[in-house]
Amino acid sequence: VLDVNWAVRWLTLCAQAMAENRVWLIELDRAIGDSDHGENMDRGFQAVLDKLAEARPETPGAALKLTAMTLMSKVGGAAGPLYGTAFLRASTALGDAAEIDPGRLADALAAARDGIVARGKAESGDKTMVDAWTPAVEAAKAAAADGAGTVLGVLVAAAEAAEAGAVATDPLVARKGRASYLGERSAGHRDPGAASSALILRAAVGAAA
Ligand code: ADP
Ligand code: MG
Ligand code: MG
Repeated sequence: VLDVNWAVRWLTLCAQAMAENRVWLIELDRAIGDSDHGENMDRGFQAVLDKLAEARPETPGAALKLTAMTLMSKVGGAAGPLYGTAFLRASTALGDAAEIDPGRLADALAAARDGIVARGKAESGDKTMVDAWTPAVEAAKAAAADGAGTVLGVLVAAAEAAEAGAVATDPLVARKGRASYLGERSAGHRDPGAASSALILRAAVGAAA
């Protein structure tokens, strides 16, 4: 079940994934940005772990709200406010529910994506984290609409779609964020934020499996 223990396991696995992929994310951001994405995400999720050690949240929504506040204050750059908004909107969508069902899970993922779009104004194909989130939300909604759909099924569908979406940013020319300053030279590299988004959604599967 997706309860607060799942949420804490998810955030713990996010921190682990950011630590393990720190150098990779730095390399991706070196190619089309300013080389700090891995550092930003690793620092942000380590700070989330520190917060979780101080006070254990009581619901999944509370865990995500704590994450939002921490990422906004610790990550900086473009990604901090974007991920902060995503986790905050997801937290609001979950409310004070103790357990998350497939429909609410898909709604929370959609709310996260909508928050990223509201803040960053990127469209699909602009070579940003939106290119991981939008296919993830579509796959999650489809999995949740299936009568036999489970929360694990929704999470797996979202993670797989996010991973494919991140890979699909490789040939794109960036039209938003720092990478857009490179114009055509941004093509041929994966978007760092799409890559970290896929790691976050994959961690959600690991926490539920
Ligand atoms: P900065 O570019 O300020 O150094 P980061 O390196 O931490 O910040 O994050 C860069 C990532 O943020 C990009 O790879 C992209 O996915 C995402 N990003 C940047 N601008 C936008 C935007 N307007 N909308 C959505 N995502 C964006
Ligand atoms: Mg950067
Ligand atoms: Mg930066």
